[in-house]
Amino acid sequence: MTYDDQDYLRRLPLLDRVLIGSEELSLRVQQLGNEIGRDYPDSTPLLVCILKGAYVFLADLARCLSVDHEVDFMAVSSYEGGTQSTGVVKIVKDLRANITNRDVILVEDIVDSGLTLSYLIDLLATRSPRSIRVCALLDKTAAREKDVRVDYRGFEIPKEFVVGYGLDYDEKYRNLPFIGVLKP
Ligand code: 5GP
Repeated sequence: MTYDDQDYLRRLPLLDRVLIGSEELSLRVQQLGNEIGRDYPDSTPLLVCILKGAYVFLADLARCLSVDHEVDFMAVSSYEGGTQSTGVVKIVKDLRANITNRDVILVEDIVDSGLTLSYLIDLLATRSPRSIRVCALLDKTAAREKDVRVDYRGFEIPKEFVVGYGLDYDEKYRNLPFIGVLKP
């Protein structure tokens, strides 16, 4: 944990602890970027950022990629401001890119029940991409309700509600440079 991380902890009374510090995050994101770079030497993959939560992760990941790539954005909503998945996925913003014959990498902040990703994978598969892979920063495997393959996984974490590095609670805490846990 850096001094900065500790300073945030002191200033935010609702924050309980840092789960993954900013230095650990940036090292792992670099490793994921290297892995993806190795897997797509001759293709220009389309990184699809699932908004809003994945925007910080995507921005850092893209800067760790040494291969040509493009980015596009999709916005979905499933939690509507709370901490429990409703299981209902709504497409708030669709892709602009045509993904027919493209190598697509879905970039997610966190996989919890797996409902959001499995819905998105099924939806995008109907558009005939060459391939679809998933890159998720965080994975709560113990919470899985729907089986989804995570090809690039940053960290496996326990079944706790986390915030920071793009992840919010009621639109707050997205700016934290680390992954933290709120007080119960
Ligand atoms: P799933 O459909 O896999 O249950 O949930 C996926 C989405 O739920 C994520 O993209 C994220 O927006 C939200 N989510 C799941 N767990 C957490 C969490 O611990 N913290 C926050 N802030 N969002 C979460």
